[in-house]
Amino acid sequence: MKTFTYEKAATPEAAVADIVGSAKFIAGGTNLLDLMKLQIETPDKLVDISRLDLAKIEEREDGGLTIGALVPNSDLAADPRVIAKYEVLSRALLAGASGQLRNKASTGGNMLQRTRCYYFYDTAAKCNKREPGTGCDAIGGFNRILAVLGTSEHCIATHPSDMAVAMRALDATIVTLKADGDRRRISVHEFYRLPGDTPHIETVLEAGELITHIELPAPAKGKHAYRKVRDRASYAFALVSVAGVVSVEDGRIASASLAFGGLGPMPWKNDAVEAALVGSAPSDAVFAAAADALVADARGFGSNDFKIPLVKRTLIATLRELTGA
Ligand SMILES: Cc1cc2nc3c(=O)[nH]c(=O)nc-3n(C[C@H](O)[C@H](O)[C@H](O)COP(=O)(O)OP(=O)(O)OC[C@H]3O[C@@H](n4cnc5c(N)ncnc54)[C@H](O)[C@@H]3O)c2cc1C
Ligand code: SF4
Repeated sequence: MKTFTYEKAATPEAAVADIVGSAKFIAGGTNLLDLMKLQIETPDKLVDISRLDLAKIEEREDGGLTIGALVPNSDLAADPRVIAKYEVLSRALLAGASGQLRNKASTGGNMLQRTRCYYFYDTAAKCNKREPGTGCDAIGGFNRILAVLGTSEHCIATHPSDMAVAMRALDATIVTLKADGDRRRISVHEFYRLPGDTPHIETVLEAGELITHIELPAPAKGKHAYRKVRDRASYAFALVSVAGVVSVEDGRIASASLAFGGLGPMPWKNDAVEAALVGSAPSDAVFAAAADALVADARGFGSNDFKIPLVKRTLIATLRELTGA
């Protein structure tokens, strides 16, 4: 591992001031330290934010919740307000990693975890995300776990987080503190970037910008579900996943919010899926139309072709669960 210095930040303001050059924040360290051991991330300084006062979950007057960036994944999943009003988030968190990892993993760090593309972790392979301009060995290689939507000729990686998929279905907002002291509120819909020709730039965060909180709006009406398909029943990333909040009134789907994991470089959402559902009586034909809308632009790369029919079946099964149809 490359030599680095270490500082413990006392306040968020001090933390952002400490980030210069290749310095990085460290929260739980469950992703960053692995990447440093492999020399994929090589910061010359770590700014430890794990003891900042950002580990509270608070109710807001508008009925929503504010979640500190350092709330551990296990605490967020077990919070009674989350279980009662944002069940999809609790379920998504519990579907991820292991109990020990969830105790360490933070809310902010989970949003920013890097891809699990095999070639990204193999420093002998060509990878535009790890080393811009070198190429992408996953295209034409073993890409079973990689993306079928939102890809570019430069990168087909997926974002691996379960929690972020639920955050997208719940329309969360990310609150940050910038190096110049300004604060920003960024909708999760605008937070992640498509790879294009710069796959190493994954979010709209600026250098040294700290996630301080994530806000959830007042809970929407409806039933919640998170369905994750993976190679093992635990301790495995999603091949595909579906997070959904759907309400049915007078025999018709009144509202629907659906987001998808394992498909793209960000937790995926497509308004056409919801448009195919809202106003209709729940039925397999309606669900199939929504599934077709989801994959209309999907493209497989060989070993991941199976994800396209798999996510259609997973969406239909989730919609049956959510609507009772
Ligand atoms: C074996 C294993 C299995 C796993 N399985 C799953 C799974 O099934 N599903 C899943 O979703 N996840 C899974 N994970 C990933 C795990 O959830 C993440 O590693 C974890 O959430 C990252 O949080 P952290 O606090 O440890 O982040 P860190 O490792 O500390 O940081 C990650 C990145 O975020 C940056 N960062 C951290 N906090 C902030 C902040 N507040 N503001 C700005 N930047 C910040 C860091 O600089 C770093 O770049 C798994 C991990 C492992 C090791
Ligand atoms: S898919 Fe992206 S992360 Fe994987 S090798 Fe290609 S450029 Fe790297």
